[in-house]
Amino acid sequence: MDYGKYKNARNAAWQCILDYDIKTLPIEVTNIVRKSNDINLVKNSDVNILQNNASGVTIVNNNSFIIVYRDTDSSRRCRFTIAHELGHILLGHMLVDKIAYRTFAVQNDTESAANVFARDLLAPACVLHELKALTAEEISRLCNISLEAATYRANRMHELEKRNAFYKHPLEQKVIKQFNQFINKNKSQS
Ligand SMILES: [Zn+2]
Repeated sequence: MDYGKYKNARNAAWQCILDYDIKTLPIEVTNIVRKSNDINLVKNSDVNILQNNASGVTIVNNNSFIIVYRDTDSSRRCRFTIAHELGHILLGHMLVDKIAYRTFAVQNDTESAANVFARDLLAPACVLHELKALTAEEISRLCNISLEAATYRANRMHELEKRNAFYKHPLEQKVIKQFNQFINKNKSQS
């Protein structure tokens, strides 16, 4: 994989969904890691290197990346942490900072970009739109993310629905095609 090829976090999440042939929710972040030959996942319990306030960190090791995540967090939180760290890798942040201890609380450009990436990867807006999953509870269940993260997503969905801001980008059009079967299946069940 050509790391750092993605410039924009939102587009990067779409591109990641397409590149990894993701067709269903909840998105399995560990499958993405497994399919990437040069990203490894390590539990913090095994290495104990995370600072107190950090949920995860990515380390560059020769020609590969190691994502260390706080495995004692809830599984939903771990999913977000791993998606966030994937964002740093795929957005090329690691090519700038060799190692950085990061927390969600730190507000800077790379941190917000990684959060946008994680949000758009774990809870793709067009899929939520088609399934009319617009409440925090539904989004949390469908995407297997925390209620807190889902609440942010629900607020954002409200804005997007108001502006009907879907399918304006060709990548989003491709994503929804890839999810076609999943959407049909889940629509008919409701
Ligand atoms: Zn970060």
